[in-house]
Amino acid sequence: MAILVVGGAGYIGSHTVYALLEQDPNCTVIVADNLSTGHRRAVHPKAKFYELDIHNRAALDELFAQEQVEGVIHFAASSQVGESMEKPLEYYANNLGGTTTLLQAMAAADVRHIVFSSTAAVYGEPQNIPIREDDPTIPTNCYGETKLAVERMLAWAKGAHDLNYVALRYFNAAGAHISGEIGEVHNPETHLVPVVLQVPNGKRPGVSVFGEDYPTKDGTCVRDYIHVTDLADAHILALKYLRNGGTSDVFNLGNGVGFTVKEVIEVAKDVTAHEIPVTTAPRRAGDPAQLVASSEKARTVLGWKPCYDSLTTIVETAWQWHRTHPDGF
Ligand code: UDP
Repeated sequence: MAILVVGGAGYIGSHTVYALLEQDPNCTVIVADNLSTGHRRAVHPKAKFYELDIHNRAALDELFAQEQVEGVIHFAASSQVGESMEKPLEYYANNLGGTTTLLQAMAAADVRHIVFSSTAAVYGEPQNIPIREDDPTIPTNCYGETKLAVERMLAWAKGAHDLNYVALRYFNAAGAHISGEIGEVHNPETHLVPVVLQVPNGKRPGVSVFGEDYPTKDGTCVRDYIHVTDLADAHILALKYLRNGGTSDVFNLGNGVGFTVKEVIEVAKDVTAHEIPVTTAPRRAGDPAQLVASSEKARTVLGWKPCYDSLTTIVETAWQWHRTHPDGF
């Protein structure tokens, strides 16, 4: 039986494929990706690759007819907060529309298990820190809204189509595979850690800090940074949980420690031994002031335990990747 990783050529997807094959070199991993933002070279050489768009029902049906897929790990989505505010309809079409087609094809092929990549952005401005899974979900940006809509769709589809799902609400994914073989590549890059590392790489003169007037200790936004390999491990545990009869559920994934934008820049300065000039820019639409996870549920129910839980290690692995791949793959 095979595991299908949809969006397996992207950042978190490619790291999950590596983790799957590292943990069980004999497992069959299939990657489906339309390469719109993913990279063919990020796909592990031992994975079977389908260049496929999840809006294409016929292509999905053919894949499910050809392969014995037991479970799906689904990463294929548009994932930038700022862009989602400018192109909300694109986000609905891609994140909700694409996933609907994928679930229809899974139901038709009798594929029962799906691990879905959700986000801390479903919470919006949190009422409690750290955030727990049962806290209110009131997204402040369209990206989070579409992910929440998919979570709700999964809950409705579960009963009707006998689907079992786990939705993993990631906080801020960062870092790169310890081997240095794969890492984060977006074009254009908008995420804080890779943007900051473009400075020592000579790709930009400095970093704009989006808002210095938030109610946080230094006025900049607080986020919970979590290593991409720790996220990858959680997907594998979630799939095992479903295969063992676990009930459908949602889990937060973070380290439970928040860092301000300025603190991240300081860590990057130390790791790279390079100056990082900073300018203040207006707030970015849709950004909550603070997002920090309680991941107690994932630890208790899934047995998840992050291995790379220091921000320095996270930035070091990211820097190892960016230093050696300044132009990406
Ligand atoms: N950020 C920033 N400058 C940048 C990129 C990001 O100040 O060039 C801030 C952003 O406003 C947010 C935090 O860094 O508060 C993390 O943003 P990112 O896009 O990495 O992740 P998000 O929290 O949106 O998922």
